[in-house]
Amino acid sequence: MIDRLEAPCPVFDITTASAVLEGAFGLSGELLALHGERDLNYRVTDDGGRRFLLKFHNPADGLDVVEMQTAALSHIGRVDPTLPVCKVVPGRDGAPWLSATASDGRTSYVRLLTFLDGRHSQREELDDRALFGWGQTVARLGRALRGFFHPAAAYEIQWDIGRTSALRSRLSHVSGRVGEVTTEVVDRFDARVRPVIASLRAQVIHNDMSRENVLVDEGGMVIGITDFGDMTHAALVCDLAVAIADVLDGRTDSLEMAAPMVDGYNTMTPLEDEEARILADLVAARCATALVVTSSRKESHPATSSFPEGAWQFLQLIEAAGFDQVASRFAGYATRQASRHSLTHRTRTTAELLAARKSVLGPLTVSYDEPIHLVRGDGVFVFGSHGQQYLDAYNNVPVVGHCHPEVVRAVVEQTRQLNTNTRYLHEASVELAERLLQSASGGLDRVLFVNSGSEANDVAWRIARFATGQSGAVVTSYAYHGVTEATSSLSPEGWPPGFSPMHVRLLPPPFPTGRSEPDNGTAQHPQSAREIETAVEELSGSGFGAAAFFLDPAFTSDGILGPSNRWVQQAEAAFRASGGLFVADEVQAGYGRTGEGLWSIATSGVQPDVMTLGKPMGNGFPIAAVITRSDIADSFMEATDYFSTFGGNTVACAAGLAVLRVVEEEGLVSNARTVGAYLLRRLDEVAACHDSIGQVRGWGMLAGIDIVHDESRQADRHRADAIANRLKELGVLVGTTGPENNVLKIRPPLVFDQSNADLVADRLDMALSENRGRTSKTG
Ligand code: PMP
Repeated sequence: MIDRLEAPCPVFDITTASAVLEGAFGLSGELLALHGERDLNYRVTDDGGRRFLLKFHNPADGLDVVEMQTAALSHIGRVDPTLPVCKVVPGRDGAPWLSATASDGRTSYVRLLTFLDGRHSQREELDDRALFGWGQTVARLGRALRGFFHPAAAYEIQWDIGRTSALRSRLSHVSGRVGEVTTEVVDRFDARVRPVIASLRAQVIHNDMSRENVLVDEGGMVIGITDFGDMTHAALVCDLAVAIADVLDGRTDSLEMAAPMVDGYNTMTPLEDEEARILADLVAARCATALVVTSSRKESHPATSSFPEGAWQFLQLIEAAGFDQVASRFAGYATRQASRHSLTHRTRTTAELLAARKSVLGPLTVSYDEPIHLVRGDGVFVFGSHGQQYLDAYNNVPVVGHCHPEVVRAVVEQTRQLNTNTRYLHEASVELAERLLQSASGGLDRVLFVNSGSEANDVAWRIARFATGQSGAVVTSYAYHGVTEATSSLSPEGWPPGFSPMHVRLLPPPFPTGRSEPDNGTAQHPQSAREIETAVEELSGSGFGAAAFFLDPAFTSDGILGPSNRWVQQAEAAFRASGGLFVADEVQAGYGRTGEGLWSIATSGVQPDVMTLGKPMGNGFPIAAVITRSDIADSFMEATDYFSTFGGNTVACAAGLAVLRVVEEEGLVSNARTVGAYLLRRLDEVAACHDSIGQVRGWGMLAGIDIVHDESRQADRHRADAIANRLKELGVLVGTTGPENNVLKIRPPLVFDQSNADLVADRLDMALSENRGRTSKTG
């Protein structure tokens, strides 16, 4: 093994060094010798006051090592430019190094580097915050070096703690207690670490983020990383182990203070289980290496090798606490972030939780007579607190499936990196907007990011009022467009009794004729046109004028009535004369649910002025958008200095991009079409056997099942409610919708497959059979 540490420092006096500086770099100034163990370093202050580091490498460092360090610095500078590492200053001839021969005849490579300010920290001064930051910096540097390679990194160096087994041949240099404990460390290493280390993440690592090599500010926060002389290709976790050993050595609280360092590291690069399991052994190995190396060197260089008291103290602490105990303690530090999160949720029984919910959240509706207490989701399934599995045939928000790993990864990674607002340049919001616009037609060229469907519609409403100068709206009779002051007025579904905003006119939706007449019969269309004309006339007669017509093209709240293409075409055409904007609310129907492209309105061929998106956009991460044209939006944005703090935040956009990627890669639009068609066929079969089904309507992966009284064929909301509750007990989640709330709403994640569709149909058949002949209360 090469011990490059054995070679003494090069010797260049100030006069010679100044001559090298002048000759090679064209600089002159004041030189100050700095402490250096292996290299000779001068701080240079040039005549203009700029500071540099003039480094004469140890003569033992060959060209390949110098070249590797130089390449690593420029790689880090490219990958993570804000990491505080030196930059290499090229010489007059453009070369990043030169060689110089000292008076003792030894030749050194010489480099000029930018100077890093800061000071070395004292052993005890670093508090939780500083250590957390130190751990983070170790992880960041590891990430910055992840894609770096250089052949010199393959050299074996004795400071690679992955090679601790090789210490065994030198254990004779340590005696007494030190010998016993270091032997135990090596034995443990061979038993616990050696068998797994080759399977761990490995790359080029800095390998020496000790107090000697890291500069801090007054508060102990890292502001400089120096000395890349121990860089090697090794297991990634060794970087953290070295830092823990060399930063916390000699403290009385070393074992506790490892926790913030691990926490900080974990925020950037979560440790894998196996890495966490061996972390303490690696820390011990680092301490043992220091003891063995210095003890063996003491024999050849007695003057320069002092006993590493700190490392010995650290090892003694570990030994006193028990190696196994410290190993599981450190592993616990690595995993506790995850458990800490789950511990923030108290565990109460379902009944206790329901009562507590009621007392703090009041009459907020909860689904099902016996509410379900969910703890986990996975794809098309959600799981209850007692392990019950439910097929989720209801939720459209997790459009690509609950907890889709791609979306989870995007959110977690982006959260670790940066989360900020759209006032700064960032790829994520721009790329997401570009992708959304690529998917839209008809000159839509502006995206405004917000946080919810309500907010999207609220902003769309403000834009419509601003652009048209009018203040009235047309919506369908039982529409839902949001929760805000403005959008609740556009949402007759939620109007309290007697509430009827003057500026809103209701348009009866298409007559529900089922899928057999998707255009709802020609007789309907003149009527829809006439009705909208009347609405528009009334609005202008009462001084409001029509600012916008908001339409959910799937009529989800109106009872799931799409596709009703001709109705939509004629209503839109009739509305155009008013000068108002046509807003397609794609919050429910968008993102591929209809199986004919991402946006449901496109099926009708009608070109909206505005589209609003929400619910599925981040697969559960809050993000929503208004898509419109620049000629409509720009003057509004300028006049109001439009901005939403969280709208378009970096993490939300990362989620949004991941969703679009998964929708595309997994072919979910065509899945919605084919599995959706299969589901509707299966539901038709069930309907053929049950009088209680009036109609099966639907479009792509969206189905509405009209539940009626057997004889009167009138809407039967109680029966619909009973069926939804029974289906829940049978492991299938559906909801209800429509003005009579008698329509079973089936709106699953788009990753539904045929077997899922079969389960819905079979369980529905079962629930309806059980219910057959029961008289439901009319109400
Ligand atoms: N528009 C439609 C068609 C909706 O279905 C909803 C939500 N159900 C909204 C708007 C409002 O979205 P959010 O709840 O995210 O505010």
